[in-house]
Parts: sequence; structure tokens; C-alpha cells
Amino acid sequence: MSESVYIGLGSNLGNREESLLWALQSLRRIDAVAVRRTSALYDSAPVGPAQPRFLNAVVELECGLSPQRLLGILKHIEGELGRRKGERWGPRPIDLDILLWEGRVVAEPVLQVPHLELHRRRFALEPLAELAGDCVHPVLGSTIRALLAQLEPQDVRRLASDAWPLAQLERIAS
Ligand code: ATP
Ligand code: CA
Ligand code: CA
Repeated sequence: MSESVYIGLGSNLGNREESLLWALQSLRRIDAVAVRRTSALYDSAPVGPAQPRFLNAVVELECGLSPQRLLGILKHIEGELGRRKGERWGPRPIDLDILLWEGRVVAEPVLQVPHLELHRRRFALEPLAELAGDCVHPVLGSTIRALLAQLEPQDVRRLASDAWPLAQLERIAS
């Protein structure tokens, strides 16, 4: 059975836009996964140590895999894009987080869904609200839109919605 899953993408190293596109393309190639919709792109200030600004987006997948299996694939894609291990909260060409999985809560040492920081991060909630504003956070019991409304201002700027250069996708795909 396919379920709706929301993945947060982030990049703040190298060509940020190209990294997001590569990741999107890699997601499209996974058997048992279909990319349904993408949010606009957002430019956001980093949290934690000083480092370049991030480019963020959220994509909606229909996924027939288990959360654990999808996480493994996301880590593989991160590795292909040159992400080195052990650089949590540091600059990275790509970060792929499972933000929300329709109808599921996962609480394991290596995987927590919804993502534990989701409700505190405007760079994740804003693009997610574009795609799933009415979805209820299964742990907090509020909609994504309500969680966003409760959040303090943060330095997150929405870019023009046509900022995903889809023509480049075709180039990368070929
Ligand atoms: P943050 O988790 O605060 O966004 P990060 O994305 O920089 O930080 P990573 O180094 O990418 O952290 O991931 C650390 C570990 O988090 C991963 O190895 C993974 O096992 C675990 N993890 C737990 N829940 C999730 C989730 N929902 N999505 C992705 N990784 C998760
Ligand atoms: Ca992250
Ligand atoms: Ca991550």
C-alpha cells in the first residue's frame, strides 16, 4: 500500500540548487516511490554553528516502502551527493530528512517520525504547509498550518515558486 510521505531537502554546500535537483531526480528513480509534488524553494539561515545559508524544499512522495528502508535509501543518496558521515549540523551538499509519514509514528533509536524538530523549524514547516497544511501532526495533534502559526519568526525566505529549474532536471536526467 502506498502512503504519503514528506521529505525535507536541504543544501548549503556547493551548487545548492543542483544538489536539490539531483536528490529529486534520485527520489524519482526509486522503485515503489513516486514524487507527487514539490514545494517552492526557501533560502534559510543555518541553525547551530556559523555556516552558509541553506536552500530548502519539501517533496511529497507516494511510498510503498517501510520508513526504515526509505531512510536507508535517503542516506545512500546523501552519500552519492558527496555527503560525508559525522557532520551533523555542519555544512553539507544535501540533507534528506523524513519529516512526516501519513498515519505513522516511528520512535526508534535511529529513526523518529515525525522528525523531532519539525515543529520548531520554519524552514521545514513553511514548505511542508504548502503541501500538507491540513495534515495533523500525529504526536502533537495540531495541523501543520497551526504549528506554523505558533512558531516565532525565523530567517526563512520563500523564493519565486518557479525557482525549481525543471529544464535542468531533464538535462540531469539525460
Ligand atoms: P537534524 O536531525 O537535527 O535535522 P541532521 O539532519 O544534520 O540533524 P544527520 O546527521 O543527517 O542529522 O542524521 C543523524 C541521524 O538522524 C541519521 O543517521 C538518522 O538515523 C537519524 N534520524 C532520526 N530520525 C530521522 C528522520 N526522521 N529523518 C532522517 N534521519 C533521521
Ligand atoms: Ca536535518
Ligand atoms: Ca538528516
